[in-house]
Amino acid sequence: MCEGWAFQIKGISPRLTPPKAGKPINAPVVQLDRALASEASRPGSTPGGRTNLCKTNLSNSMSILISCLKSCNICPRNCKVNRLEGKTGYCKTGLDFNVASYNVHHGEEPPISGINGSGTIFFANCNLSCVFCQNYPISQLGNGKSCNIEKLTEIMLELEQKGVHNINLVTPTHLAVQIAITIKKAKLQGLKIPIVYNTNGYDSVETLKTLDGLIDIYLPDAKYSKNTNSKKYSNASNYWQVNKKALIEMHRQVGELKINKDGIATRGLIIRHLLLPKNISGTKEVIRFIANKISKDTFVSFMAQYHPAYNAFKYKELNRKITAKEYSSAAQALDEFGITNGWVQEL
Ligand code: SF4
Repeated sequence: MCEGWAFQIKGISPRLTPPKAGKPINAPVVQLDRALASEASRPGSTPGGRTNLCKTNLSNSMSILISCLKSCNICPRNCKVNRLEGKTGYCKTGLDFNVASYNVHHGEEPPISGINGSGTIFFANCNLSCVFCQNYPISQLGNGKSCNIEKLTEIMLELEQKGVHNINLVTPTHLAVQIAITIKKAKLQGLKIPIVYNTNGYDSVETLKTLDGLIDIYLPDAKYSKNTNSKKYSNASNYWQVNKKALIEMHRQVGELKINKDGIATRGLIIRHLLLPKNISGTKEVIRFIANKISKDTFVSFMAQYHPAYNAFKYKELNRKITAKEYSSAAQALDEFGITNGWVQEL
């Protein structure tokens, strides 16, 4: 069990952990647009709509990517910008993308990190703007080095060679389709370990459906149950409506968490919930929803290590850690709604 977690359910550092020890990405090997052009020109490539990418061949998947990015509606922001022409929307990401680092990470939930670690890849930029983001140099400033499908495929295979238990894609939402194609390419080249989709939970159901069959483990946040708070602190006024639908779709695809005899997760859903001061995260309603609308058997990762970062100091209510009283009050929701699987971080 990792240091810091308790109840069978206890102890991680969340994906907010800055990837200091990560291996920096080197210069791009091949420009993504060149890779796209080459793939899309293969016989059998036809423009398509939002299709399940798992069920299409690689060439068609590339065409679908091209179609989606012409008027981007990959996430609920629905920016409608032409990312193929280098235009950028809310996530400040065009066709190419940045990767901040990749590394073997031992601080994730116990069945994700296991003994050998999780092969974590940190993508730059984000479709949320959390004022307290602990990864803001990456998520908000876009720090990282240029990458593409070819290079990302190599990274996944390199991490697998290191013996990690999974490929852990951190902040993947705005790159969902590029990532889907990379997974297909990597699998064709022998990638076998599970893929973890480590997301802020602001994902559109339509895009998630295109990933059905490619993602083994969904690791989403459930950040807020009040839209006034999600608007104020993450600039997403419909976060809870979007998040609830996304969680249901993720659960539909992968079901409850499956852990093998060695204690390693092989498939399923883990929902992360970061406790914020003054119950800004709306914990009780989040846990109620998980228990009543998804499953009481859902694994919940209850994170208590919030500390002010980035612009949190501008908000008096966010400019401190949570108190013991806030923690115990929030934790009562787990008992009240019968959630017994997961991990809890101690204060
Ligand atoms: S992925 Fe980026 S450009 Fe596309 S809709 Fe979302 S925020 Fe906008």
